[in-house]
Amino acid sequence: MDDAHAPLRVRKEHYLETIYSLGDGVTLSRLARALSVKPSSALKVVRELEAEGLVTYGGRKGLRLTEAGRRRVEELNQRHKTLEEFFQLIGVAPEEAFREAEKLEHVISPEVVLRIEKLNEALKKMRGVLAGDEGV
Ligand SMILES: [Zn+2]
Repeated sequence: MDDAHAPLRVRKEHYLETIYSLGDGVTLSRLARALSVKPSSALKVVRELEAEGLVTYGGRKGLRLTEAGRRRVEELNQRHKTLEEFFQLIGVAPEEAFREAEKLEHVISPEVVLRIEKLNEALKKMRGVLAGDEGV
């Protein structure tokens, strides 16, 4: 993940995802280490996320996602799941499907993801038909 060149919004989403995966109360230095950035640069982004109401940072209490921050991560995870499934359905290898989904989840529009979700269902059904177990 080439984070230094990612647009700021994507970088912020990576922060949210990382806080989510490290768990509530994680320290700033642990977050910075996980993202391979200096604590001072991590703090700058954390303050912006705080201003946007997505995290709280209380010094020794560590970092916490707000309800809105948590929702944002869950949305990204849902998009990721749909995209990864789609790529696998069209024959992309699992590791590549994961990597591509990880990139696209940050830039794709929610409407398009909904369409892909429907396509996934259709593809899964079609696979069943081709395999001869239509199930109806
Ligand atoms: Zn991501």
